[in-house]
Amino acid sequence: MGSREKKLTLKLLINKESGRVVFAECGKDFVEILLSFLTLPLGTVIRLLDKHSSLGCMDALYENVEKLDLKCLQTEACKSMLLCPRSVAERHCKDLKIKVDNLDPKRLYLCLKWDCVARVHKLFSSVADARCPCGSPMDKFALLWKKEASCDGGFCEGERARFLVSDDLHVSLASMASSFSLLQEFGIHDVSLLQEREVSVGRHEDTLVQCIHGVETAAIQA
Ligand SMILES: [Zn+2]
Repeated sequence: MGSREKKLTLKLLINKESGRVVFAECGKDFVEILLSFLTLPLGTVIRLLDKHSSLGCMDALYENVEKLDLKCLQTEACKSMLLCPRSVAERHCKDLKIKVDNLDPKRLYLCLKWDCVARVHKLFSSVADARCPCGSPMDKFALLWKKEASCDGGFCEGERARFLVSDDLHVSLASMASSFSLLQEFGIHDVSLLQEREVSVGRHEDTLVQCIHGVETAAIQA
């Protein structure tokens, strides 16, 4: 973990008696990272969790594809596609403050022959090791955004919006009403039972797992 790693700050409200997080107050940046987990392809989840996803037999399947003989596959690109699948929502995730997936979403692969790029095929590949119809490998990359109808990025409305995230990952806009509603849900009638704590969240593996399993772990390890 480098010292320049980007971090986000969450404000946790903790029940001092149970040690349980009631909710985290955070900005749009953290909520969008949380939501972006749903856009990750299954192969990416297994890769990011280093084949310890506990998703049934999927870790074993991923490992077996890593070892799979290329003779079983149409092209070498099929293996890249299976092990490093691209997300269809990567444009939405391009400006996340912390990149959950370390693949560069703008990277596209080309065959640099003039006919292939500009005149005849005009093709690009989103995965490495694809083969151009001319027979050459598409192994040169360019940083481009494909033309597509999409938003500018992100998922949430309001640059300065504040959110509450409960320990079961219920997300709501921060307000007095939503705060009281969560306190009621937890049966908390005495605010002196609550303790406020700030934690920093980065991209390293422990934090990634914390985000997937809930913000409660973050409070315990803070
Ligand atoms: Zn070509």
